[in-house]
Amino acid sequence: MSARDLVAALPPLRETAVFLDFDGTLVDLAETPDGIAVPEDLPDLLDRLTEVTGGALALVSGRSVGALEEFLPGFEGVIIGGHGAEQRIDGLLETHPLAGSEALGQLTRAVEALARQHPGTIAERKPTGVVLHYRRVPDLEARLVSRMSDLAATHPGIELHRAKMALELRPDDIGKDIAVGLLRSRQPFDCRKAILFGDDATDEVAMRYLLDHGDLACKVGTGETGAPLRAEDPTELRAALWMWTSGEGSEAWPSKD
Ligand SMILES: [Mg+2]
Repeated sequence: MSARDLVAALPPLRETAVFLDFDGTLVDLAETPDGIAVPEDLPDLLDRLTEVTGGALALVSGRSVGALEEFLPGFEGVIIGGHGAEQRIDGLLETHPLAGSEALGQLTRAVEALARQHPGTIAERKPTGVVLHYRRVPDLEARLVSRMSDLAATHPGIELHRAKMALELRPDDIGKDIAVGLLRSRQPFDCRKAILFGDDATDEVAMRYLLDHGDLACKVGTGETGAPLRAEDPTELRAALWMWTSGEGSEAWPSKD
């Protein structure tokens, strides 16, 4: 669907709560997490969305809040980081109790040792978890899944998540669905139609949650999804979001076709 068709299917922005994933949704994916390029217009776009929604806009990402702050230094709105393990609301950062704990430190050291035993893999520390990347040695997948599963099983409160060529150990009581549900219950996100824009499996759970509650979801990019709406790529989504900020949603953007 084109940017214009997408906007025509949305409710008026001022009556909507907007949840946005970051990587692959607002910005194009890159070879490495640090390699992404933040589009020049993105900070202004986020400010404008925040303004029109009266603050009912949140970034909901697997990245840490600190990493997102580095990419978007001027953004003062709500940021959910680490799939919900971190929340920055009204400028105050709240973090999952496992962050900085001895248990997490021990787990991180174990994964770093695992990475040293398997050249080609990379261990990435996160504030509330640890990721093992194996893009360069895909043949090791079964072995690494088995070792990481063992680590999850021996660390209470930790579970294993599989992503594209990466295995993440993180708290078992977080997720984008839980984070979105929590925000939906508080101002200014409550009493509005909500929509989540996202591109991968971690977004699908939050999309399902919103759809189950009569809300909306939009998939960015190709691939299977439960979302009824779709944007072709981050560029098309940003174009649609700009249109949305300057119009009234469905009434203001009738299809001209
Ligand atoms: Mg993403």
